[in-house]
Amino acid sequence: MPGYGWIFPLGDGRVNVGVGLLSNSGAGKGVNTTKLQEYFVAQAGDAWGLNDETCLGPPTGGRLPMGLSIGPRVGPNTLTIGDATGMVNPFNGEGIAYGYESGRLAAGVLGEALLANDPSALSLYDERLEAAYGDYFKVARAFVRVISEPRILSVCVGTGLRVAPLMRELLTIMANLMSNDAKGPAELGYRALRRLADVVPERAYQLLLQESNA
Ligand SMILES: Cc1cc2nc3c(=O)[nH]c(=O)nc-3n(C[C@H](O)[C@H](O)[C@H](O)COP(=O)(O)OP(=O)(O)OC[C@H]3O[C@@H](n4cnc5c(N)ncnc54)[C@H](O)[C@@H]3O)c2cc1C
Repeated sequence: MPGYGWIFPLGDGRVNVGVGLLSNSGAGKGVNTTKLQEYFVAQAGDAWGLNDETCLGPPTGGRLPMGLSIGPRVGPNTLTIGDATGMVNPFNGEGIAYGYESGRLAAGVLGEALLANDPSALSLYDERLEAAYGDYFKVARAFVRVISEPRILSVCVGTGLRVAPLMRELLTIMANLMSNDAKGPAELGYRALRRLADVVPERAYQLLLQESNA
C-alpha cells in the first residue's frame, strides 16, 4: 500500500503519531484510516509507550493536496501559496520549501501589481508557478499514478531499493535536487521522464501494469 506511518518526537516527551495514504491509490481506496492508525499504534506502541493512558487526544485527519492541484490560485485580491494551493511535491510529500518558494513568487507578483497599481497583474503568479513547477509536478503526478498500483510498487521496492546508485539518482529527482545545467544521470533521467509524462502517461501506466501482471 503506498503510504507511510510516522512517529515524530515533539521535543517535550510527546510524540505525534500518524499514518498517511495516497488517496488516489487503488489499494488505499476505502481503507478505514482510523483502523489503520490503530494497527500502526499497536505495532509501535510498546517501543514508544503508546497506549490509552498516554494518548493525549483523539486522532484527527486531513488531506495534503499535492502537485499544484488546488485552484483558483489567483482571485481579484488574493493569491494562495503553500498547501492552500497544493504545493506539496507528489514524489515525497515535502511541502515546506515549496511553501516558502510559492510565497516568494506571490510576494514578487504582489509587489509588481502594487507598483503598477494594476490588480490584473496578479495573474502573472499563475504563469510563474506553472513555469517553475508545472513540468516537475506533472512528472511527479505520473509517478504517483504508477506507484499507486501495488504490484508495481512491490516490484520497485523489491528490486530498486537494493540498487544504491539507482536510488541515489532517483532520490535526486524525487527531492527536486537536479541542476538545470548538469548532465548527470538524474538530470538525464528526469528529462526522459518529462518527455514520457508529456506523451504517454496513461499508455505507459497500462504497459507497466501488464508487465507487472505478467
Ligand atoms: C505528517 C506530515 C509530515 C510532513 N513532513 C514533511 C517533511 O518532512 N518535509 C516537508 O517539506 N513537508 C512535510 N510535510 C508537509 C508540510 O508540513 C506542509 O506542506 C507545509 O507545512 C505547508 O505550509 P503552509 O504554510 O502552506 O501551511 P501550514 O503549515 O498548514 O500553515 C497554515 C497555517 O494557517 C493557520 N490557519 C488556518 N486557518 C486559519 C485561519 N482561518 N486564520 C488564521 N490562521 C489559520 C494554521 O493553523 C497553520 O498554522 C508534512 C506534512 C505532514 C502532515
